[in-house]
Amino acid sequence: MSVFVLGSINLDAVARVDDLPRPGETVAGISLELFPGGKGANQAVAAARFGAPTRLMGAVGREDSGPSLKAKLAGYGVQVSDVAELPSIPTGQAHVWVSSSGENMIVVTSGANATLSPQHVAATPLEGQRVLLCQLETPAPAIEALFRAGVAKGALRILNAAPALPQGAALFPLTDILILNQTELATYARLDHEPSRLEEVSRVARKLMSRPDQTVIVTLGSAGVATVRRDEAFLVEGRKVKAVDTTGAGDCFCGALAACLSTGMDLRDAVEHANAAAALSVQKPGAAPSMPSRREVEQILA
Ligand code: ADP
Repeated sequence: MSVFVLGSINLDAVARVDDLPRPGETVAGISLELFPGGKGANQAVAAARFGAPTRLMGAVGREDSGPSLKAKLAGYGVQVSDVAELPSIPTGQAHVWVSSSGENMIVVTSGANATLSPQHVAATPLEGQRVLLCQLETPAPAIEALFRAGVAKGALRILNAAPALPQGAALFPLTDILILNQTELATYARLDHEPSRLEEVSRVARKLMSRPDQTVIVTLGSAGVATVRRDEAFLVEGRKVKAVDTTGAGDCFCGALAACLSTGMDLRDAVEHANAAAALSVQKPGAAPSMPSRREVEQILA
């Protein structure tokens, strides 16, 4: 069974500086590194690395880094034939500046990602796609079109409603499994604090449900993952590891979870596998390069 991801593809440009520039100031960079990024691409890599046949639908620019990003994603095992290469528009980019004290500033430009539309979705055959996985870095109307097509085909619809955006909530009724981190949970539930205890997380998460058969999964960083269904709520504790870079931990969780569910694994097992996959990913630098294989995950669960 396969995973179909509709989502963003970005070039992440990470410059290290001694001190972040103030408005109007120019500072010399110490280093510049370029990585494939975007939540859609990261989650597709995580699912493919976990062993699921994974198709990514998205859009990049044709004249810049787009074609080479596609080739990199293909190198991670992601099927990229549904990634459009568009003329006269830049590939999405994240410009990240990191100071020597670890502070950062980030500007994301969506570029080609913003062009994805219901028409693209209608033109893409979905035969055999059992698990659909989306995030909110691509336009909501395209996600809605994909999820509506998924309802008709009986596909499992997973939404990682990140970043937290007002238009995200309108997609919840079409979603089977909603994945949020604590900040996003607080934003959608309009709380002035981030819930962390299972009892409060489950009470708040249930308020976001619009159907009795929905699941809300809340990632809690190093504390693990809370899974909330109508009749149960359970915590899978975070694994004790030395984190070196938590970039993409949530993406790793989402991609690995989708991959597990696409094999018919039961939800609790899938959450345990995805929690272990994300714990492995934080022990390596980068997002895409840190996604573990299924074998690595099964070794630490054994
Ligand atoms: P996001 O990256 O979206 O903010 P989280 O920080 O909640 O999401 O991390 C997602 C998942 O990654 C967590 O639920 C957990 O499984 C794993 N994780 C994140 N940080 C750590 C850590 N320091 N130690 C172990 N696991 C972690």
